[in-house]
Amino acid sequence: MKTFNIAIDGPAGAGKSTIARLAAKELGFVYVDTGAMYRALALFFLRRGIAPGDAAGIRAALPEAEVTLRYENGEQVVLLNGENVNGLIRTEEVGKMASVTSPIPAVREKLRELQQKLAGETDVIMDGRDIGTVVLPDADLKIYLTADVSIRAQRRYLELVERGEACDRDELEREIAERDRQDMSRTVAPLKKADDAVLLDGSQLTVEQTKDEILRLYRSRA
Ligand code: C5P
Repeated sequence: MKTFNIAIDGPAGAGKSTIARLAAKELGFVYVDTGAMYRALALFFLRRGIAPGDAAGIRAALPEAEVTLRYENGEQVVLLNGENVNGLIRTEEVGKMASVTSPIPAVREKLRELQQKLAGETDVIMDGRDIGTVVLPDADLKIYLTADVSIRAQRRYLELVERGEACDRDELEREIAERDRQDMSRTVAPLKKADDAVLLDGSQLTVEQTKDEILRLYRSRA
């Protein structure tokens, strides 16, 4: 049976994962957070003490890192060589490392295969940077979700404060802007809106409104 695939791409902090998770729950789809996979590999490289710019070192270490996904009560659990790393990959340090190591083609290839396999097996909402452009070019619905950088920084700031992580709001905005710049300017699978993706600007929308708009788009295509 053909699966229904929804691709959501967009810059850091646009709310992709929160919204995709909610939409997946309502639709009974599997939510696939591809950023978490890049983060798991980044954690592996950080633990190995590999410098972000050491592409050869990263390529050499890559075969020793196995990233797999498991679902517990509908939640994605990322396993790095069998270890549940969900609680370790949400830091800015890991996010920054992911952004620097994700342009390496061998890193992308490794994760792309796993992503495509999942989408072929089951209905998914998959979020990332290159889902609609590279990973699932034939996705049934593509959304490019964005928001003003200051709004994205503010939302991420509140999230971190809530988790008890101290941070500087302006510094956070600079880091997010830098991550966007890196993700958009790389030559391999850069972040960009697919021609056939629906542009959704969530700057003035609540999470609920954005999710409802995605569900409306889904119903218009299913
Ligand atoms: O979405 P998240 O912030 O968790 O992603 C972390 C980093 O992983 C991004 O900044 C990006 O460099 C990389 N990434 C990617 N392709 C994806 C998902 C994430 O290159 N499909």
